[in-house]
Amino acid sequence: MNFHILTLFPDMVRDGLHTSILGRAVENGHIRMNVVNIRDYTLDKHKKVDDYPYGGGAGMLMQAQPIYDAYISVCDSIQKKPRTVYVTPQGRVFNQSMAAEFAKEDDLVILCGHYEGVDERVLEEIVTDYVSIGDYVLTGGELPAMVMVDAISRMVPGVLSNEDSGVTESFYDNLLEYPQYSRPEVWHDKKVPEVLLSGHHKKIEEWRLEQSMKRTMERRPDLYEKYLANKPQV
Ligand code: SAM
Repeated sequence: MNFHILTLFPDMVRDGLHTSILGRAVENGHIRMNVVNIRDYTLDKHKKVDDYPYGGGAGMLMQAQPIYDAYISVCDSIQKKPRTVYVTPQGRVFNQSMAAEFAKEDDLVILCGHYEGVDERVLEEIVTDYVSIGDYVLTGGELPAMVMVDAISRMVPGVLSNEDSGVTESFYDNLLEYPQYSRPEVWHDKKVPEVLLSGHHKKIEEWRLEQSMKRTMERRPDLYEKYLANKPQV
């Protein structure tokens, strides 16, 4: 999968995405990060990319021309108009099923806003999806873009070393993950639950499902309702 990230702060995005699992996924060719510096596309002789909003108001707005030309350069390089996300607090709130849906794309453009945001006219021309990472306002779209790339990449086949691990984690089936334990068997007088040491796989599975349900009910009653509504009937 190819991510094309349009940003005014390319170093921030590159630095944030080249370590650990994602770094390996790039090296192995499972994902590709094309980080595009919007400033490279401005036609302004002083390399300006922002200006005051018409009608007044606080702060500066990112101008349409450099963003549009950066976007067109991506479209030209892949010979199509890909799905294009503008990360914005005004979007649909990102979740695991959206991550899985975006992971089906071969190419995904993510536009990072900054300052007070972006001239509406370019958004109207290029954006297919408005996505928020939560109901709060950040200074820029770079962190939201990185959050999305991370969550989507984990859904791309081959990125996680154990293909199974993506489907047993929190949010799969609308349940949070059960508690997990590693060595030693006793730490601070707390013992690992007996069933996990039993080697009895069916009992372990039952215990984990029970724990997942209990935890979801306590911490995310909204999610638990969804689990109950969509639970396969036996
Ligand atoms: N004036 C804008 C508004 O009220 O909707 C907020 C602009 S914000 C200071 C600057 C940029 O950060 C936005 O253009 C967007 O790209 C990004 N951003 C901020 N909060 C975000 C969030 N919760 N989710 C996604 N992107 C966000």
